Amino acid sequence: MTRPMVELRGVHKRFGTLEVLHDVNLRVDPGEVTVVIGPSGSGKSTLLRSVNHLEKVDRGVVLIDGELVGYRRSGNRLHELPEREILRRRARIGFVFQNFNLFPHLTVRQNVTEAPLSAQRRPRAEVEELATRLLDRVGLADKAGEYPRRLSGGQQQRVAIARALALRPKVVLFDEPTSALDPELVGEVLDVMKDLARSGTTMIVVTHEIGFAREVADTVVFMDAGRVVEQGTPGQVLDAPRHERTRAFLSKVL
Ligand code: ADP
Ligand code: MG
Repeated sequence: MTRPMVELRGVHKRFGTLEVLHDVNLRVDPGEVTVVIGPSGSGKSTLLRSVNHLEKVDRGVVLIDGELVGYRRSGNRLHELPEREILRRRARIGFVFQNFNLFPHLTVRQNVTEAPLSAQRRPRAEVEELATRLLDRVGLADKAGEYPRRLSGGQQQRVAIARALALRPKVVLFDEPTSALDPELVGEVLDVMKDLARSGTTMIVVTHEIGFAREVADTVVFMDAGRVVEQGTPGQVLDAPRHERTRAFLSKVL
């Protein structure tokens, strides 16, 4: 049996009295694409943020490639790791946000090279060469010297994807990567994501783009009110949902 790249076991998370994740179990194997769908407020962003330990879960465990991101184990006790060790581990998890979150004072190329150089301390020659390849891959070779504000939203998001890949991530998390884009720019970002999916990148994608899910997802997860209501292949969840809540949600987004 292959070791999962991402595994959540019995994850619970509350904010005060609000239960945001309730007994979430999820397994993403290497090279697989999991698409998470569900209504606003159902816990999708919290789920992604828990995967890279931006949120600490209250119960259960999150494993990346068999390793706890935020803790070390001694006996059956968990001890939180020092911040720099957490940052080091988090660097192997790419995160692409709805609003791009590029560094505005850095060029496109510098956005891509910054973390590999400063956080991962990799050799500059190697990182620069990788940046050139990644910008070419996302179709932005000619924009390397530009600043983010001079790019369209679709271009900025493609830079953000190149930046995430530059970390040599074990998994890339996408939180509604096309929701802030004008409709005519959505396709160019989805095309880059499809290319990644086909080339074996492990991905967890929160999106309302059902067509994307149908085309590239190995697994579709439907969440509602902090729970995984159902998960399965796109055919199972999107075409033959077993739960009324899934059907009701799909009837709104399809
Ligand atoms: P989704 O991404 O599916 O829209 P979220 O994970 O962002 O859902 O949020 C799930 C619930 O948790 C919502 O009710 C939201 O208001 C609440 N929530 C999210 N982050 C926080 C926070 N830092 N403090 C308090 N409540 C939060
Ligand atoms: Mg969200």
